[in-house]
Amino acid sequence: MSAELPHVVILGAGFGGLAAAKALKNAPVRVTVLDKRNHHLFQPLLYQVASAALASTDIAAATRVVLKRQKNTTVMMARAIAIDPTRKVITLEDGELTYDFLIVAAGMTNSYFGHDEWAEHAPGLKSLEEALDIRRRILLAYEAAERETDAEARKELLTFVVIGGGPTGVELAGALQEIAQRTMAKNFRNFDPTKARVILIEGGPRLLAAFPEDLSESALTQLKHLGVEARLNTRAKNIDARGVTLDGEHIAARTVLWGAGVAGVPVAKTMGVPTDRSGRIAVDETLVAKGLSSVYVIGDLAALEQDGVQLPGVAQNAIQGGRAAARNIVHSIRNEPLVAYRYKDLGSMATIGRSHAVAVVGKLKFKGVIAWFAWLFVHLMALVGHRNRLMVFLEWAFAYVSFNRSARIILERPVKSMETAPLSRVSLPKAALPSPATTDGAAPRAPEKPASAAASLA
Ligand SMILES: Cc1cc2nc3c(=O)[nH]c(=O)nc-3n(C[C@H](O)[C@H](O)[C@H](O)COP(=O)(O)OP(=O)(O)OC[C@H]3O[C@@H](n4cnc5c(N)ncnc54)[C@H](O)[C@@H]3O)c2cc1C
Repeated sequence: MSAELPHVVILGAGFGGLAAAKALKNAPVRVTVLDKRNHHLFQPLLYQVASAALASTDIAAATRVVLKRQKNTTVMMARAIAIDPTRKVITLEDGELTYDFLIVAAGMTNSYFGHDEWAEHAPGLKSLEEALDIRRRILLAYEAAERETDAEARKELLTFVVIGGGPTGVELAGALQEIAQRTMAKNFRNFDPTKARVILIEGGPRLLAAFPEDLSESALTQLKHLGVEARLNTRAKNIDARGVTLDGEHIAARTVLWGAGVAGVPVAKTMGVPTDRSGRIAVDETLVAKGLSSVYVIGDLAALEQDGVQLPGVAQNAIQGGRAAARNIVHSIRNEPLVAYRYKDLGSMATIGRSHAVAVVGKLKFKGVIAWFAWLFVHLMALVGHRNRLMVFLEWAFAYVSFNRSARIILERPVKSMETAPLSRVSLPKAALPSPATTDGAAPRAPEKPASAAASLA
């Protein structure tokens, strides 16, 4: 490959970055795909890892393998710390990388609305590390409940609170309820798992605010039917090791999960260009960062309105944006005019639990079992990698007939912060404390980053 060719760096191997890289396969450029992780992650199924339905390896694919046949592309595992658009340099943790064109596809991270101290008590769901942390907290709460003799303490262990009524919160709440009602049934001798409480808290007047109102209503009804307590127009005032404080009420709960807010990754701030309130980078209609010429921003991190609304933080927007940015880079090299990006909405869906979901495709709306099967099919087909597709299909088929969740193993986890946060909260007697652990049905994993660190990763 000629070093003379323009160098395109793609920061982020998520949905947008991967789509952009693939679209540049035959372009006269050298491509470097840079990511702090070695894998592309299928975020829409993260909650299934968190709820022990799938193993982490089922929803991730090594980026190097995905792009191995793409000769003009180098995959580099490194964390970007800063971007200097004037010098066209990306500062890495341990070096520098220069570019002619840059596509920033680095996504979003969790936002705790100025309360970063809540992260320790209420992990978000953006990475595999967080999904495994959540899974571990859920399973350990049940284990601790089996040994707990104090009724109040056991109640606390069996109360699960999910903050945020968007798709992530709804999915998590539905899965937690299923775990209580189906998966854990008959597994314990000292308490009845079906008595576990799952509470979903949403600050706004309805769940799934991005969906049509009748589907939000339907999602609420379906969740209630499953047994989830959903509270609308309710905001968390504080979250600590003992639970959640709301306006005039404290919910004692040892497991609190966060699905309420997102913010642009920190590296976005280093570019010195305008961002919106959530830290997304403002781009023009060709996806070029405002005020710059060779830097494209795509996917969740791009602040762009179409028809008066911010484009949604969904996989399709990232994929379509990745392809559009790649196309414009080729136009640029050929000295042709750039083309405006137009997002095509292919529909949205959210699953609530077994046989429960909502979906909207154009003017068509679906709910219940039809929406659920549509959700299963779309997510299965969208997974990266034939192996993953097959494994997930088999896992789902098995789970459908058995009601079981196959990834329920709690493995040792040598991560320091894990020693204090969740285990101290379930207050197991010292002698009985399992070693710091992670839960995964897959093979033992290398040490992972602590959840609190993962939440603040750039
Ligand atoms: C739990 C969950 C459920 C979801 N469900 C759905 C769904 O059902 N349908 C749907 O359409 N969308 C869903 N989404 C949203 C969808 O996943 C995102 O819209 C999509 O991932 C955005 O793609 P992206 O390329 O912009 O960023 P991402 O896919 O987030 O990729 C960003 C990449 O950048 C890397 N990165 C970040 N910072 C750095 C750095 N400093 N240095 C190096 N690398 C860095 C990250 O490691 C990551 O690989 C869900 C999201 C979550 C979290």
